[in-house]
Amino acid sequence: MSSANPIPYKIFLSENEIPSFWYNLRADMPTKPAPLLNPATCRPMTAAELGRVFCDELVSQELDNDTRLIPIPDDIRDFYHMYRPSPVVRAYCLEKKLDTPAHIYYKFEGNNTSGSHKLNSAIAQAYYAKKQGLRGVTTETGAGQWGTALSMSCAYLGLDLHVYMVKISYEQKPGRKEVMRTYGASVTPSPSDTTAAGRAILNAHPGTNGSLGCAISEAVEYATTHEGYRYVLGSVLNQVVLHQSIIGLEAKAALDKYNVTPDIIIGCAGGGSNLGGLIAPFMGEKLRGEKDYRFIAVEPASCPSFTRGRFAYDYCDTGEVCPLAKMYTLGSQFIPSPNHAGGLRFHGMSPILSQLYHDGMMEARAVEQTSVFEAAELFARTEGILPAPESSHAIRVAIDEALKCKQSGQSKDILFGLTGTGYFDLSAYKNYNDGTMVDSIPTDDDLSQAFAQLPKVPQ
Ligand SMILES: *Cc1c(COP(=O)(O)O)cnc(C)c1O
Repeated sequence: MSSANPIPYKIFLSENEIPSFWYNLRADMPTKPAPLLNPATCRPMTAAELGRVFCDELVSQELDNDTRLIPIPDDIRDFYHMYRPSPVVRAYCLEKKLDTPAHIYYKFEGNNTSGSHKLNSAIAQAYYAKKQGLRGVTTETGAGQWGTALSMSCAYLGLDLHVYMVKISYEQKPGRKEVMRTYGASVTPSPSDTTAAGRAILNAHPGTNGSLGCAISEAVEYATTHEGYRYVLGSVLNQVVLHQSIIGLEAKAALDKYNVTPDIIIGCAGGGSNLGGLIAPFMGEKLRGEKDYRFIAVEPASCPSFTRGRFAYDYCDTGEVCPLAKMYTLGSQFIPSPNHAGGLRFHGMSPILSQLYHDGMMEARAVEQTSVFEAAELFARTEGILPAPESSHAIRVAIDEALKCKQSGQSKDILFGLTGTGYFDLSAYKNYNDGTMVDSIPTDDDLSQAFAQLPKVPQ
């Protein structure tokens, strides 16, 4: 190794190679993701209906299944310049440790204060809200990365921000709240008594730890009942996958420089935005019949939307105020076990990725959190970066695939998304280090109960 390496440890693009367009994967999908439905009428949501909740420009991006390339406004590119392009790293040290013939690459999105890829969409959504002349936006946050990313973006543009933070995260990660407050956001633990949705959930489940679905209901209610506010969401939606395509476009441009074509592309899947963004340009090639790749979505065994969920219309939120999305879902009433520390706890999945998975274009794997933290520990000790628990799901499967290469003696190029760093997840690392971390997998009974509450949507 060393200077004789044909491929450097880090492949950086130059600043002017930051993409000037987002790539809209839907343009190349033969079967488009199913439209969002109005829960009252079960008819597709119109732009006017969506416009009461979301910013106008984001509504048009949400509904646009046809425009392949969407220009990134200069103001957003200026912001991207502060922390992009992000590197593609060849994991030489991990390869050596595993003694594998596989070549492992990761696209690292943790080099910004929010510590994750979420900033890529946060700045875009805040920009369109500002452009529309709004006073502010509301959102939910689970672990806190999205809320942090959005607070950074709103501070930059001078927008007001109200964050509903899942109560258990609010209690376990007080540091996150302070970062958001430093950037000027106000943070409320959810469920709260500040909204009708929150009060209803508190009534039905006193002492609940909260869930993302519940925090979404509260944030939407605040936005739709306050003049000059709209709601923004950090994952799941088509527009978010669109903004995150910058991850895949940069990764592909970097690998193309060295004629590297990944055989396998792996990403963790919560709501699907980083995975959708990472695979977008590669999946486009596969859909157009130009190249073939294996794509693997990795999810927690405690919240297994792809591997054990139903492909059905469901609510995106517990309070059932949001539009219905057709997606792989565990049911909007499903709440993962409080033992589950590793993020990725949303009950549903991006409609784009759900359709692609349904059409057999990608694979999914569920992994248990203790094995995820084993992978995180090995990665931290070899590659130096303390990974986010979410990202470590992808690390787990990248290592598993590299070990398969070792067994078969076959070399493969593996690319995975390292979505962020784990400095705010130290209570989860503490559980792991103390040996108190347990795996909790929902029973079929748990799942049937949540499936039974899926909305009945006429076909
Ligand atoms: C939010 C988050 C995820 C999961 O969200 P997706 O929308 O599925 O990408 C993964 N990793 C990190 C670090 C996150 O903050």
